[in-house]
Amino acid sequence: MTRTRNPADPLLTLRHAVAEASRTLARDGLVTRTQGNVSARQDQLVAITPGGASLGELRAGQVTIVDLDGKPVAGRLEPSSELPLHLALYRDHEIGAVVHTHSPAATAVACVVEGELPCIHYEMALLGGSVRVAPYRRFGSAELAEVASAALRDRRAALLANHGAIAVGATLEEAAATARMLEWLCQVFLLASAAGSPRALDAQALAEVRSEFARRGYVS
Ligand code: 13P
Ligand code: ZN
Repeated sequence: MTRTRNPADPLLTLRHAVAEASRTLARDGLVTRTQGNVSARQDQLVAITPGGASLGELRAGQVTIVDLDGKPVAGRLEPSSELPLHLALYRDHEIGAVVHTHSPAATAVACVVEGELPCIHYEMALLGGSVRVAPYRRFGSAELAEVASAALRDRRAALLANHGAIAVGATLEEAAATARMLEWLCQVFLLASAAGSPRALDAQALAEVRSEFARRGYVS
């Protein structure tokens, strides 16, 4: 017999969505073992993966619910150590979901590039342009939350120096798609860097792409 979800329990639906997004990211190689964390916001509540959990096998019952101040509301496990980071992003940005990964190419670039990853590909317009690299701060710290939130100003993605990547979106699907896009972009950057010096697009080229994306309805 298959168990059905209670549609009257929106928190359960949200927990299922976070668990499913985590498993998909793990299956696609963006998160490995316990590296990374995922959250989604619904009104005043945030569903977030628990600390130290194996994301590839995550079940809805392991997902924790907290309020926007981090106060536990439901769930039997401790929330991710990166709860301060996720809460800072919900506080500072109009978003509905956060995906944090240690995906290999993004993390490699975050170990090398200073300041920002320049606009080497027109699709970066979808991420808001160049991708900033937030300076290194210890995982789980309020300081990391602060620098990561600043790096995401007017952007959908950022790199965390010597740590990994962060992607945000209106929905879990959007944030996960952005995390995938960032990983692909960093792979391209690494390949391009091995072949020579990657060329950056200028502001005018990027502005033209933005208006063409808008005309075609790819972005709002
Ligand atoms: P958690 O297991 O506590 O979510 O930590 C993983 C991580 O990526 C820390 O930055
Ligand atoms: Zn991390």
